[in-house]
Amino acid sequence: MAQLILDKNYFIETFKQLALMAEENRDHLSKLDSDIGDGDHGINLTIGFREVSKQLPTLEQSTADIAELMKKVGMILLSKVGGASGPLYGSFFMKMATHIANKQQVTFKEFCQMYQDGVEAVQLRGKAELDDKTMIDALLPGLEVLKQYQEGDDPVQTLANCVAEMKKGSDHTIPLIAKKGRSMRLGERAIGHRDAGSESSWMIMDVFLQQLKKLPN
Ligand code: ADP
Ligand code: MG
Repeated sequence: MAQLILDKNYFIETFKQLALMAEENRDHLSKLDSDIGDGDHGINLTIGFREVSKQLPTLEQSTADIAELMKKVGMILLSKVGGASGPLYGSFFMKMATHIANKQQVTFKEFCQMYQDGVEAVQLRGKAELDDKTMIDALLPGLEVLKQYQEGDDPVQTLANCVAEMKKGSDHTIPLIAKKGRSMRLGERAIGHRDAGSESSWMIMDVFLQQLKKLPN
């Protein structure tokens, strides 16, 4: 099987689809956030990815490589999105650029490293651990899957497994008490509710998966 290559266009297309995904799931994500937060998570993501989408034609021209694209997208999210999730997802995308300087194309193995760098940035900024009832509860189980990837494994199957583990991680937030973020204040009243960021993070990676499935292999 020929090596699967992700070029800048793959990421541009993914960001276009992320804007649509955020729009479609805006009310669902805000509803989750309204149960134990302030009800703006879907709105925050929609504002952020809509702005990214609006700037994509310019970014396509003005960025020399994938690293620059990821950094600029992260900066847009960081500057346009209020709330906790803006800086967290902003860092996620910005730090995906860490190990891919000047690259026009990345392999799936390099993509796994990008995800790892992104997740580590979210942890560094938010200081959340597993079971704190945050997006980390979905991001870390996904990382465990991508760390296992080896050349020769099927990238689509690997990313599908990653998203599946992320979903399970999100389910796992339901019975938890929150130790980070707004829902922390609720104490035991947060029990029985899913964390909104754990839901949006698997949905984001599912968009990467759906775009991966469209590539010729
Ligand atoms: P805000 O909480 O400021 O209103 P959002 O509603 O957009 O921001 O995002 C809330 C989500 O952010 C939560 O559901 C949780 O997953 C995530 N979150 C909050 N604080 C942290 C943190 N310290 N580390 C990781 N994720 C966090
Ligand atoms: Mg909120």
